[in-house]
Amino acid sequence: MSEPGFIVIEDLHKHYLDGQGNELHVLRGVNLAIQRKETVSVMGASGAGKSTLLHLIGALDRAGRGSITIGGLEVSSLNGDSCAQFRNETIGFVFQFHHLLMDFSALENVMMPMWIKAKRTLPCQAQAMALLEAVGIAERASHRPSQLSGGEQQRLAIARALANQPQILLADEPTGNLDESTGQRVSDLLLRLNRELGLTLILMTHNHQIAAQMTRQYVLEQGRLNSAKPDSANA
Ligand code: ADP
Repeated sequence: MSEPGFIVIEDLHKHYLDGQGNELHVLRGVNLAIQRKETVSVMGASGAGKSTLLHLIGALDRAGRGSITIGGLEVSSLNGDSCAQFRNETIGFVFQFHHLLMDFSALENVMMPMWIKAKRTLPCQAQAMALLEAVGIAERASHRPSQLSGGEQQRLAIARALANQPQILLADEPTGNLDESTGQRVSDLLLRLNRELGLTLILMTHNHQIAAQMTRQYVLEQGRLNSAKPDSANA
């Protein structure tokens, strides 16, 4: 029997203040229910609120109103250590700009989240190596990020996002900086990881072709999430 939703978002609102102290109402009642292992794309104009939504799902920021539950846990009620623990154990983030640690090797970049979670060094190294193999850059393990191509850097960022075996991968424009064929290969990799590891994948993108490869497709416009195809379920 399927759950009511692995990720359930209800009536989510988010405001910011602009430089003049005016309220910017970015999310205006977003609703979404996602099952485990689904792949979801969210498109929308620049400034529509895609990153905002992703940050709220990943507990990097707090909503003004509404709720997000993940696996039955009310994300907005988490704070401090419990919030960090939830993020470390449940969520992997992949960003357009990879935020890799430039002074560390590819292998060390993947090991870093494992160290932070206080795993021992040796098994950690083997796991990190397996992740580099999974994303196809094992032979680059000792390279620094600056010695990798854009596509390889994004693969590395994906391997790092998987370091602590998350259930959910949140990807914010992961192909935004890549040429078309490299971007497609990164997208294929994300879909393969979804199939093989059972990851739930939420992808913010400007790329129609990649968005169309996800099982559920949405558009964020005027602060609301609308289905991008008529047969997609409840937005
Ligand atoms: P997208 O990812 O769709 O390009 P964002 O979620 O980054 O959109 O931003 C949505 C809107 O909110 C934009 O107008 C942006 O300028 C504004 N915004 C984002 N973060 C902040 C912030 N911390 N303070 C004020 N305004 C913000």
